[in-house]
Amino acid sequence: MSETLYKAELGETASDIKARRLHQPRRIVIIGGGFAGVAAARALRRCNAEVILIDRRNHHIFQPLLYQVATAILAPSEVAAPIRQLARRQKNLSVMLAEVTGVDLRSRSVDADCPGVGVRKVSFDYLVIALGVQPSYFGHDEFAKYAPSLKTLTDAEAIRAKILGAYEFAESAEDPSERARRMTFVLVGAGPTGVELAASIAHIATITLRANFRRIDPAKTSILLFEGAPRILPSFAESLSKKVAKRLEKLGVKVVTGAKVERVDEQGVVAGKRIESATVLWTAGVAPSPIVKMLGIQTDRAGRACVGPFLDHPNDSPIFVIGDLAAVTQDGRALPGVAQVAIQQGRYVGRLISAEIKGRKTPRPFRYFDKGNMAVVGKHFAVLERGSIRLSGFMPWLVWVLIHVMFLPQLQNRLRVQTQWLWTYFTGQRSSRIIAEAPRGDE
Ligand SMILES: Cc1cc2nc3c(=O)[nH]c(=O)nc-3n(C[C@H](O)[C@H](O)[C@H](O)COP(=O)(O)OP(=O)(O)OC[C@H]3O[C@@H](n4cnc5c(N)ncnc54)[C@H](O)[C@@H]3O)c2cc1C
Repeated sequence: MSETLYKAELGETASDIKARRLHQPRRIVIIGGGFAGVAAARALRRCNAEVILIDRRNHHIFQPLLYQVATAILAPSEVAAPIRQLARRQKNLSVMLAEVTGVDLRSRSVDADCPGVGVRKVSFDYLVIALGVQPSYFGHDEFAKYAPSLKTLTDAEAIRAKILGAYEFAESAEDPSERARRMTFVLVGAGPTGVELAASIAHIATITLRANFRRIDPAKTSILLFEGAPRILPSFAESLSKKVAKRLEKLGVKVVTGAKVERVDEQGVVAGKRIESATVLWTAGVAPSPIVKMLGIQTDRAGRACVGPFLDHPNDSPIFVIGDLAAVTQDGRALPGVAQVAIQQGRYVGRLISAEIKGRKTPRPFRYFDKGNMAVVGKHFAVLERGSIRLSGFMPWLVWVLIHVMFLPQLQNRLRVQTQWLWTYFTGQRSSRIIAEAPRGDE
């Protein structure tokens, strides 16, 4: 840890901060070590500045593959990397494990709650906010107890235990209706995550668990995918959404569109009628980090920060908001909350700050280059949309595989994921089926 960061952790006085600003390199604080934050930090590697990256977790998660942890294909360590390891070669970068609980624009500092130490003020000359979003139950937080969502490694492991545990309970259940309830999976929300999870559960039911049980037949699993909108994958073209729905039905997933889930409890869900299910998964909504409210910035309907053309705070230029947390409109359309947007915004802001510190001309306003949008639906089938290009089937699936391997954060992740995928591809088996603790009946 650099000496200045150590001092910051101890809490600087106003004169300390003034002296540091006069005599030391500028300090850039990045909060959030997801796609956007890590990209911003990397883009600052040649900048004569002290860069501090704060995250409440010690790891960066490759979220597009989280569903594979939840469905036992991959282990948590295969889709995540320690942030410190990613930062090890960048000498101007320090990593701080802390939860950011406040941002004080007047004193130019953030409150960072370090485990075992307490809250420390970390002052900044530039602040990059990349805290992402969190699951939202649309005002029904009570659903969370029964319907976990997928955002962290802990969530993925909990979902995996729930899915695999359901079959264990079904095997020992005497009552046929309880057995059916255990073997009914309900997913609420048919965006890419809901679709990917549903198809992967179908694969577990029909292939992975084949011949594993004696009293139940996992192939008789019932998988229901609910979507409130008139069609699934609303962010894709209608033609692709139809193809995916057809593919899901073929895999044994029942797709229910235009259906509002009104209630979730320990017995299942109510969506027009009651559906008995022991495993309800929430893949529906997201809400921005609460830190946005401390910025005094205008927000969009979803609560994301409406940033300026340079992704900056309109009234406070050394403050930037990027990634899922930022509401950016381009050519009349809101940019989606996807990894590519977050990475490009992170790179852009890193370069902009670097240019500003070097006294160079700052770049043009941010513009997103759309490389395309993809969703995978089990083995051998994916959809790809890029501008007017719309593809589905095996080729996009191959592209999906290659892109995801390429973008994993470290070489060891890439090698391990490739090995697991080859194993699953040829055997149908999944390597991460161990549940550390035997599931309890009420889970
Ligand atoms: C299950 C799932 C599947 C997805 N699949 C795809 C996909 O297939 N393709 C795609 O392009 N996109 C996908 N996405 C979306 C993509 O992951 C996001 O758009 C991207 O992660 C946004 O990057 P970000 O840096 O803004 O936020 P994140 O990557 O979410 O990073 C935010 C970081 O901030 C940290 N943080 C949050 N609050 C605090 C705090 N108070 N203090 C300290 N640290 C904090 C978090 O620990 C996290 O590391 C998926 C998302 C999920 C959840």
